[in-house]
Amino acid sequence: MRTQEETFVTDLKCRECGQTYPLSPLHVCEMCFGPLEVIYDYARMRRAVSRSLIEARPRNLWRYRELLPVAGEPQVGPHSGFTPLVKAARLGAELGLKELYIKDDTVNHPTLSYKDRVVSVAISKAREFGFKTVSCASTGNLATAVAAHAARAGLNCVIFMPEGVEAGKIVGSTLYGASVITIRGNYDDVNRLCSEIADKYGWAFVNINLRPYYTEGAKTYGFEVAEQLGWRLPDHIVIPTAGGTILPKVAKAFKELKEVGLIDDSACKVHSAQAAGSAPVINALHKGTDLITPVKPDTIAKSIAIGNPADGFYVLRAVRESGGWGEVASDPEIIEAINLLARCEGIFAEPAGGTTLAVAMKLVAQRRIDPHETVVVAVTGNGYKTLEAVAQGLPQPYVIEARLKDFDALFERLNGTARPLAGAA
Ligand SMILES: *Cc1c(COP(=O)(O)O)cnc(C)c1O
Repeated sequence: MRTQEETFVTDLKCRECGQTYPLSPLHVCEMCFGPLEVIYDYARMRRAVSRSLIEARPRNLWRYRELLPVAGEPQVGPHSGFTPLVKAARLGAELGLKELYIKDDTVNHPTLSYKDRVVSVAISKAREFGFKTVSCASTGNLATAVAAHAARAGLNCVIFMPEGVEAGKIVGSTLYGASVITIRGNYDDVNRLCSEIADKYGWAFVNINLRPYYTEGAKTYGFEVAEQLGWRLPDHIVIPTAGGTILPKVAKAFKELKEVGLIDDSACKVHSAQAAGSAPVINALHKGTDLITPVKPDTIAKSIAIGNPADGFYVLRAVRESGGWGEVASDPEIIEAINLLARCEGIFAEPAGGTTLAVAMKLVAQRRIDPHETVVVAVTGNGYKTLEAVAQGLPQPYVIEARLKDFDALFERLNGTARPLAGAA
């Protein structure tokens, strides 16, 4: 029997020139500055994994541990991942789709976004490498995830965010004991500064010097979709694009499942969704170029507002390889989609989820998605952290005294109006 210590990771390899490096906190190639990626021994992995082995394990992202770059028993994120794949019948009827699912990371543990996945893997690795301080450059959700997982792992934590992120994301980082620094500038300014700080201070920046490990955690979103559909892929998946981690990694996850024999067919059209106010990748996709021109983000979808995405090129490649497409959603379209999802399915998404749903609706309208096909819409973050994005557009509650006759009067008044009380005929 193989031991828990066994790992299938062999080394780090440059995605551009192919130079290999030993497993270490390195993220760019010293020869060509290309990004480094974790390499696995798939032949050996194929003999070690099976559907039944995975299905027998606890319902968290570590059930796919052979496909992740960790050694030994996982110590971080014991409740992260394995979020619901919700069959969305009412929303599907609204969109004219028979098989619509929401992959619901609004309920990821412990910080209610997809970032709990990447951070579980990155902080596991930070501990293996012996770091005492973890850090990140964040648009908000990453900040809360790093702060929470660092607290539980007993590590120091320093968070960097652009000014102007939602209050919930500041409170939700500071509360866990992290030092929070906001930068006068946008995410791309924060990221540049953090690269310099990582070099100088030797901290574990989960999305900078631990990036090869961090990004691997995003595969678990794709593994779960396949397992939850009964070890098959949907015809389409619509995924938000910010820095460009999750989309190519979900595409990679689908390929790996086929490679190690867990699924039979890896065909799935992977579609990218961006907010119109921050759409450098979709602009390039629509122009048919590989050249991504950076933009200055201006959108309510702050968690995906990255104007110069580190892995944008890999998003384009994965989308094109899969036969997928991409569209943008304006701020009003995002808000409308958030409301629609909430009213049809009882799921409160943050603007990133409004973006993917609004884009899915466009793909249906463009007939890129057929009514009978299986569609998964990625909902990657929770709306309770971004109340300000939707609160203004909602009706105010009615205010009355605690007297039955006051309620009777209200009921009478509203009956037959545009917004009758529920239960009115
Ligand atoms: C970070 C994030 C994403 C994905 O961003 P990538 O950098 O492209 O992986 C999607 N949704 C939410 C809510 C996020 O916080």
